Amino acid sequence: MKDLKNSLKKLKQESLFREIKNINSKTGKYICIEGKNFLNLSSNNYLNFADNTDFVKEFLEHIKSKTSEVSFGSASARLLTGNLPVYDRLESLIANLFNKEKCLLFNSGYHANVGIVSSLLKKGDAIFCDKLNHASIIDGMKLGDGDFFRYKHFDYEDLEYKLEKYSNKYKNIYIITESVFSMDGDIADLKKIVEIKKKYNATLIVDEAHAFGVFGKNGLGICEQENILNEVDIIIATFGKSIGGVGAFAVATADIINYFINTSRSFIFSTAIAPVNILWNEWIIENKLPETLTSRQNMLQTADKFRNLLTDNGFETRGESQIVPVIIGNNEDTMKMADNLQQYGYWALPIRPPTVPKNTSRLRFSLTTDINIADIEGISTILRQE
Ligand code: PMP
Repeated sequence: MKDLKNSLKKLKQESLFREIKNINSKTGKYICIEGKNFLNLSSNNYLNFADNTDFVKEFLEHIKSKTSEVSFGSASARLLTGNLPVYDRLESLIANLFNKEKCLLFNSGYHANVGIVSSLLKKGDAIFCDKLNHASIIDGMKLGDGDFFRYKHFDYEDLEYKLEKYSNKYKNIYIITESVFSMDGDIADLKKIVEIKKKYNATLIVDEAHAFGVFGKNGLGICEQENILNEVDIIIATFGKSIGGVGAFAVATADIINYFINTSRSFIFSTAIAPVNILWNEWIIENKLPETLTSRQNMLQTADKFRNLLTDNGFETRGESQIVPVIIGNNEDTMKMADNLQQYGYWALPIRPPTVPKNTSRLRFSLTTDINIADIEGISTILRQE
């Protein structure tokens, strides 16, 4: 506690101090903060499901007939008394969609990654992880008893080099990657990783957090789009982004899922999220997700146009998804640019270390299906003013 004040002071000096914003409301693509309206370019609500008032009304009508299932708290972990048919139904629905034997719900993507990675990674095992994987994956590796190696982002030669050098020292080998990377919006070469995992007899885990609901004919993600659902051993995704709900899931063989049920501490020791949230996830996936193909494709085209505009104006951007980063470099400049955009009514948050590597602070624009190019084409001109 002695150093707490100094730590806070240092964070402020380095433009790394974070505060919870006073958000008044969110309506469609707009967000009202401290009484002022902005275009919301910082949300993971890719399909506009999260605060869609029409959907909320429809959903409330839908659950009127399900009063025996609707409650706002499960009051227990799944393995105790926190289970009801709706949880099993959603798990079956998702397992069938992904053509996998079994699905397990988690309370969030964070719970899923921490629980899954730490329970798999036993002493004598090793996991090979893309350097830019999400914090929840890193935390899972730190909690596990085995060793971990981080390969350079998207550098599959580095992955192979590390596998060649170390894999024969370990009993079980795992490879873990996101599909769409959350801070860069770029997409892993999953077909290449599948080849590598076969060569080294590794188990492959893919986190589709930002791809589920966006990519693939049925919106299942990059594994669906690349036609490799059957080749990826464990697929993880969250309901907290495209689905506009809360919770997460993993799909895999029955043995793997039964192993998680018995060993994943974040699953075993936490109260299950409320049935009403599970009902929402089920209702959205059954009724609304199948109608989104065209709007998802339009969103990805808008993102491409936006990236081109930024590049034409001399900015460094990356990726091929609905997430468009503009790499600025230092924290202070990034903060200033974000502030300037706010003056013009754009809410795009600066992303700084430790969320991204040092000297790669950035503005991260995340698009949603109701944002069109006319809404955002003025941004590069404003950025150039700085
Ligand atoms: N994985 C990735 C790649 C993420 O970006 C996130 C959320 N930022 C998570 C997992 C965690 O998901 P949740 O928000 O549901 O905890």
